[in-house]
Amino acid sequence: MQRKVNESAAFLSINNLPGGVGVYELGDTIKATYLSRNLAKLLGYSSAEYHNYTELHLLDAVHQQDRKRISSMFSRLKKSHRDIDIEFRIKAEGEHWIRLLGRFARFHGQFPVYYFVASDTTEAHQSSVLLQQQNARLQFAFSHSTLEMWEYHLAEDRVTTLSRSILGGHPPINTTDPATYLIEQELVHPSFEQTLTQDFEDLRGGVAPDSILRVKNRDGLYRYVRSSYSFLEDTEGRSISAIGVFQDVHDEIETRLKVLGNNKAFFAAFNLESGRPVLADAATRKVMQGKNNLYEVFEQVLRTSVESSFFPLFDEISDAKKLREFFRSGRKELSIEARMQHPQYVEKGYPWVRFNLSIASSTAQTIGYIAIQDINDEKMRQQLLVERSQRDSLTGLFNRSSLEEMIADRLESQEKSGAFYLIDIDLFKQINDSYGHDRGDKILKQVADTLLAHFPPEAIIGRLGGDEFVVYVPDCDTASHGYLLGASLCNTIARNKLMELHCTCSVGVCHQEKPALRFDQLYQNVDLALYRAKEQGRNQCVLYDVSMDAAKSPTWTNHEWILDNLPDTIALSDASTHELLFLNKAGRQRYAPFGDYLGKRCCEVLNDRQSVCPECRNTPLGPDDYQLWVSTDDEGKSILHKEKFVRFHDRPAKLIVLVALMAQTQVPASEQEKGGKPQCSPAGD
Ligand code: GH3
Ligand code: MG
Repeated sequence: MQRKVNESAAFLSINNLPGGVGVYELGDTIKATYLSRNLAKLLGYSSAEYHNYTELHLLDAVHQQDRKRISSMFSRLKKSHRDIDIEFRIKAEGEHWIRLLGRFARFHGQFPVYYFVASDTTEAHQSSVLLQQQNARLQFAFSHSTLEMWEYHLAEDRVTTLSRSILGGHPPINTTDPATYLIEQELVHPSFEQTLTQDFEDLRGGVAPDSILRVKNRDGLYRYVRSSYSFLEDTEGRSISAIGVFQDVHDEIETRLKVLGNNKAFFAAFNLESGRPVLADAATRKVMQGKNNLYEVFEQVLRTSVESSFFPLFDEISDAKKLREFFRSGRKELSIEARMQHPQYVEKGYPWVRFNLSIASSTAQTIGYIAIQDINDEKMRQQLLVERSQRDSLTGLFNRSSLEEMIADRLESQEKSGAFYLIDIDLFKQINDSYGHDRGDKILKQVADTLLAHFPPEAIIGRLGGDEFVVYVPDCDTASHGYLLGASLCNTIARNKLMELHCTCSVGVCHQEKPALRFDQLYQNVDLALYRAKEQGRNQCVLYDVSMDAAKSPTWTNHEWILDNLPDTIALSDASTHELLFLNKAGRQRYAPFGDYLGKRCCEVLNDRQSVCPECRNTPLGPDDYQLWVSTDDEGKSILHKEKFVRFHDRPAKLIVLVALMAQTQVPASEQEKGGKPQCSPAGD
């Protein structure tokens, strides 16, 4: 009884165990002679099945895929009677693994009887599978990657290579004082010696370095590799060694360097959390002034390098704190164009540079690249282009649009009175027609140079187009001062012996008092004044005054242009001196191909005579007169002269129209009828 109680207590406790127990007879089928409730549960039996467990074949509970394996193991057990340790999935839903540890107990007839202890190994099995998978992945990655590994033993200051080769194919290394070894073997580029030494110092100080070095590969070429470390600890948590890996980052760095091209002034990378340099050659370390933290030197370097007027551009990162905040803000790029002195080449002054921050995040760390590119030449070229777009290509003076903008700006901020000039070359069309466009261009350039020399340096000088120039002198106290400056310009140009050709100009000037007029208003005023100057005989300066507004004609008709476009020769000469004042294009081509007619008398140019023609000498034309007479040209052709008294620019003048009589067979009767007192000399000269 006592025993029974104990037994039932024992069974009770067995049933409460997390695993289960069973007694199986390995006969034709494998059936339980005893089965704990827990093992029944592990095998996925229902309570009805449990009540009939002596009828159940163990293999029926095993997952289809494991059944064959387990069956053959049991077959072997029947003969060997050895201990057994097996794991299999059960048939039930989901993936459930159980582990059976079995021990031979006795024979029942010819069949062995086994005790089994079972436990649920689902979790352990899953994690071991994961571990295996993880290992397989790592193995694969390791065998297919360019990663190179080594171990640094802190106590011995020794490096032992773990991968088959190191530094792009060199044989494994096993050496103490690795920094010296690598430097002596020239395996690390001399400009990265300091980084290398610092890395080992960091390791000894318990800091895991992560830096970029230039190392020599098997072909003798230097490549950028990233070397990162992770400490291994002993059971008491002390670092005993560090595993180091090399990763080839050459292409990434080279791509970044290529962007900077030959104009690289500075290039470095920093760990943004710690501020420690990741990629820092000897030059960078010099700029770092021996410090090992970007944030400690950044502010100072910035303050001493950036030309002070550019400080506001660096507002976002003007000190170490702001720089950190910038990095944390999630922004990836910052680019600033400024004038900056290279800390190493102070003598170069403050060339234009592009200061660039770019952030590259990886799972391991966030790296910030700082690149400074010398863009001085590029900037100068750009400025030249901008300047060119503002300039008239022929004369180099400001062109129409920039001139207008600059003068308008000036007028807005104007505090003093100024003088606005419109300058137009006299009879420039004739210069072009007579001497050709190229010489006309030279005249334009010479006039431009004269303007630059004549007006004060603060004057804004430009060419509006054609032969028209505008000058604004921002500081001109009186109207007469403004006028005198314009008049003296006329004199200078008229007397300038250095000019390609003799030429004159006319000037309209408007004195600008406060309140300021706009550009277009000033232009209208000087246009009227210039018109008056032309009208009054050219080669003079006229000061605008309001009375001129009355004479403002809505359309300015260029009479000369009309006359130039007529086929007959048309000339105008002074009524009393006979000096030629105008000769149209047909006349210039026929009588003065070299343009040398201004100032000569009409008889000389048109009739090849040194003295005044008898027709004019004998009976000078009066205000209401006209006359017709015929001459013969050097080819023997008859030329009809139609002459009329007119006023030309307020000057008494004679308008002469020459008509070849071959085409015009006779003098039209109507012409003869028109005149007040026709004077006709049929034979001519
Ligand atoms: P005026 O005394 O009345 O000013 O007579 P003008 O012949 O100078 O007449 P206007 O000022 O109207 O003519 C300007 C001429 O300038 C017209 C055109 O043939 C010429 N021109 C315009 N642009 C250029 C240029 O770039 N080069 C040259 N050589 N000539 C130009
Ligand atoms: Mg002109």
